[in-house]
Amino acid sequence: PDISTRIAAGEVIERPSSVAKELIENSLDAGARTISIQTEQGGKSSFVIEDDGCGIPCAELPLALERYATSKITDIEDLERISTLGYRGEALASIAAVSRMEIRSKAAEAEAGGLIRCEAGEITLHTETPAKPGTRIQIDDLFFNLPARRKFLKTSSAELRRIVQIVNDYALIHPEVTFRLYEESKKILEYTGAACVEDTLLRRWGRQTKIYHSESQSGSLSARLWWNPIPDSRRVVIMLFVNGRRVQDAAIRAALSTADAAAYGEWLVLLDLPPQDVDVNIHPTKEEVRFRRSGEAFKIVYDNAKAIFAQRHS
Ligand code: ADP
Ligand code: MG
Repeated sequence: PDISTRIAAGEVIERPSSVAKELIENSLDAGARTISIQTEQGGKSSFVIEDDGCGIPCAELPLALERYATSKITDIEDLERISTLGYRGEALASIAAVSRMEIRSKAAEAEAGGLIRCEAGEITLHTETPAKPGTRIQIDDLFFNLPARRKFLKTSSAELRRIVQIVNDYALIHPEVTFRLYEESKKILEYTGAACVEDTLLRRWGRQTKIYHSESQSGSLSARLWWNPIPDSRRVVIMLFVNGRRVQDAAIRAALSTADAAAYGEWLVLLDLPPQDVDVNIHPTKEEVRFRRSGEAFKIVYDNAKAIFAQRHS
């Protein structure tokens, strides 16, 4: 691939966990109910993800690998109301540019499945093949053609830990989806779906945790907060998801600490609002957001945090 593609790839794909994030998002966008991941060496030598989502028609496989090709936006207006997780059409192209990739997929309505192989962004094989419904994507030798970047990766167990974090996050906000993670054929994680946010939080924060919760709706903005106060802690750990995306936002952090200077502990904050009221398009890895009406976002989080602190003191 040309230099600009490789540079762009480096912006979106930093390490195996970025592959995990992008490919899990694609599977969720495809409506998957079961997502299974297998890694070797923490995803450095091999990363495989399988889903039972809508699949990709064989003829469209090359397109899926093209930069800025997305099936999720058809006109520029759509950018204003992005509701799926992916939208830039960059992830598959970026990963393909810096790895050996194979996609096997079968679209629900299609007779046959398709297979495509790609090495450093060049397609080496594209053919019909029998396949089960859904999509299986295998990424081998991430950054094999970017040795400087490859050297920068951490140990297998450190890379695996980051993947575990990503899977934990998505399992939290998609408790209805089954997630499994295997490293070197050993099962590392399993979420069996059919759960709710509280179940998953208890699993994450510990069964004994007393979890405080508050939620409210203001116009088209909805907020759900959970808090695990950690006595003697001086840290505020916030997991913030806006429309299902894990993001960072200073204003939300400020809202919690303004509600109570001792907001120590772990927080889960889920905000949902119409896509046109939030700009998620300001950074390639989509970790920052900009609220159209940031005052409202601040206020609803502040109010719910206040309600939570009131429960605690009552
Ligand atoms: P984006 O998600 O921004 O559209 P990607 O590069 O991540 O771009 O994916 C490109 C396209 O490939 C998607 O728009 C979608 O049509 C298709 N695709 C990728 N992964 C899957 C999957 N797991 N199931 C079905 N379709 C997929
Ligand atoms: Mg995507």
